[in-house]
Amino acid sequence: APVMAIVGTPNVGKSTLFNRIVGQRLAIVEDRPGITRDRIYASTEWRSRSFRVIDTGGLELGQVDAIATRIRAQVELAIDEAEVIVFVVDGVVGLTSADEEIANLLRRSGKPVIVAVNKLDRAERNALAYDFYGLGFDKTIGISAEHALGIGDLLDAVFDYFPPASTDLDQIDEDAIKVAVIGRPNVGKSSLINAILGEDRVLVSEVAGTTRDAIDTAFTMDETRFVLIDTAGMRKRGKVYEATEKYSVLRALRAIERCDVAVLVIDADSGIIEQDKRVVGYALDAGKAIVVAVNKWDAIEKNGKTAQEFEKMIRSHFPFLSWAPIVFVSAKTRQRVRRVLEIAAEAAENHAQRIATSTVNTIVQEAVAMVPPPTDKGKRLKILYATQVAVKPPTFAIFVNRAEMMHFSYERYLENKLRESFGFLGTPMRILIRERN
Ligand code: GDP
Repeated sequence: APVMAIVGTPNVGKSTLFNRIVGQRLAIVEDRPGITRDRIYASTEWRSRSFRVIDTGGLELGQVDAIATRIRAQVELAIDEAEVIVFVVDGVVGLTSADEEIANLLRRSGKPVIVAVNKLDRAERNALAYDFYGLGFDKTIGISAEHALGIGDLLDAVFDYFPPASTDLDQIDEDAIKVAVIGRPNVGKSSLINAILGEDRVLVSEVAGTTRDAIDTAFTMDETRFVLIDTAGMRKRGKVYEATEKYSVLRALRAIERCDVAVLVIDADSGIIEQDKRVVGYALDAGKAIVVAVNKWDAIEKNGKTAQEFEKMIRSHFPFLSWAPIVFVSAKTRQRVRRVLEIAAEAAENHAQRIATSTVNTIVQEAVAMVPPPTDKGKRLKILYATQVAVKPPTFAIFVNRAEMMHFSYERYLENKLRESFGFLGTPMRILIRERN
């Protein structure tokens, strides 16, 4: 799908615009401390066309760069990654010298640039945006990200610069299971991908070149079709992938956004570090199915309990991943490489699973009969009914008389009951509590 990037100086409203375009995502009920909620990459739709949005300003990697360096990095990312660039400026403050600098960088890119003059809350938005026409970009549109004004016009303008829809890989290979192999550098991602594609029964059917240097590899194993997302630099020892940290984070995020299942590769030899948690946090936030592959299993000394001990260690580092299957692999000896794919296929199936409302209600009613809902001041929470409202990941709405009476622990109990019944191995689940009188 095509990519639109949002660039601009601090405080012009980039993130507000991003959220406005991407829309309110389903509330994540589960609280997972230490996991970032900020997303800089998201998929959305306009006029039935999927596209992806990057909020380059949200790309905060923790280093204390000068603002100028950060902005330059943003613009470079946008230029590399996007089909269309939306350059956000502040319509109240007016044109600043920092805007001019960004404009210079953008002009040299040759990419289509649309100027979004933000914070114009009145009807005569486009007239107020007049100051910015002088920048000479393809289009200038007055908007208010906060009040949702002019957003449709902006997206229409963006849309005009998207390439024809038929070139989207996402649309060509809809049924294939999209797998992203993720993990910090040197855990063996490239080796694992090469091992997968070198398997006897794996037929690499095509190498679909998408935009720029992102390469997806399509293959079939035992009649199941897979697409490995963004294998650029992984199949050869090129390492385009991890050229710079900011770039690799963005690459990883994009791969995650596009996948069904993320295979998180962990290094058995060096163990789990903070960076592993950050990587998996992105996949969790995006609601993807996750399989943990503990690689370099050949390289460590083992006794009868090693796998068990590893599993325990992993579960304690990733308590929010209790549902994710763990496979011990070696890209080097190819031990259980096929198993990773089998499990990924199963996780993808669960991720897309749809359960009939009557079945969901039977389970929930049984659960309620077994453990009654919480009470407050003598009144008991009533669970009215439940239904699945979305797939990828399976998302359930539970309708109750008073939402504030729902306890986290009771919600968790219901989630566990649903999990037990439907076996959502490898997929996260979401529960929304909705009030109904
Ligand atoms: P990436 O950065 O995650 O793509 O990691 P690479 O695939 O480049 O691997 C990093 C290093 O780990 C290389 O030196 C590999 O040869 C080594 N390596 C990868 N997989 C295995 C494995 O299963 N066993 C052993 N012993 N070494 C491995």
